[in-house]
Amino acid sequence: MLSKFWLHELTRPAFEEWLENEPDPVIIVGVGSLEQHGPHLPLGTDSLTIREYIHAVAKRTNSVCVHPCFPGYSPHHMGFKGTITFRESTLIAVLMDTLGSLANHGIKRFVLMNGHGGNTNIVNLTIQLARREFKVMVAAPEGPADTDTARARINRQRKHWDVHSGPTETSTALHLFPDLVEMGRLEGWKPTLNMHPDVIGFLNPEREDYALAGQVFRACTEPDTHHFTSSGIYGNNDPRDADTDEATARFHEKVDFIVDFIRMWKAVPIPPAFRNCT
Ligand SMILES: [Zn+2]
Repeated sequence: MLSKFWLHELTRPAFEEWLENEPDPVIIVGVGSLEQHGPHLPLGTDSLTIREYIHAVAKRTNSVCVHPCFPGYSPHHMGFKGTITFRESTLIAVLMDTLGSLANHGIKRFVLMNGHGGNTNIVNLTIQLARREFKVMVAAPEGPADTDTARARINRQRKHWDVHSGPTETSTALHLFPDLVEMGRLEGWKPTLNMHPDVIGFLNPEREDYALAGQVFRACTEPDTHHFTSSGIYGNNDPRDADTDEATARFHEKVDFIVDFIRMWKAVPIPPAFRNCT
């Protein structure tokens, strides 16, 4: 059993021993962002959050975790100071070099956890490329979606566009790194979502035509954050309503879900095409 789980904290022999003794070793790679998160959350919110997740999952599964870079793909936040964005080719290269290096040392199973929506397409493309190029399994399990907490979050996101620096992310930050949150900076805050009223009207999961309206809403969102919100907070609900109990439940449910995923996955042998690469 490992006593430390971050790759950068292990000695080489400790890593080698783990590789030798752990049946079907898994490496958990986390990626987030370094971007504006409204007036009250730290710029590193997404990366700080994903680090907590990957470390918690690694501890429970005797896996090794890696957070290869703080920034992600955030060109849409560059209108606000402090954001660092990688271009898409840089982020793919960082992830591919991370997976490729570890594949070279014999790792066959990776879990890739992403804490930033802007990275999603790049992460998915990286998974396809890495599977083919390095002959490794790369999983990005998503969920759970069917718990009360998950349903509450999904509903709030649909109704208020609470996807960036709103109550959901604020509650996560207050749960995981409260010392870095400056709630006082929200004094007098009012929703800053600046869109045509018809577009805001699409944010209503109770609408009969929501299956269409939700997609029309997305089609109408402008590419750069500063075009539709002056505070950097997306939604029209109040981050001061952050519910840390819900965030705590959400964290543990997700960690449990990924742990269960890894256990089920490790019970299955590596499919032939992933063996004997090089
Ligand atoms: Zn975020």
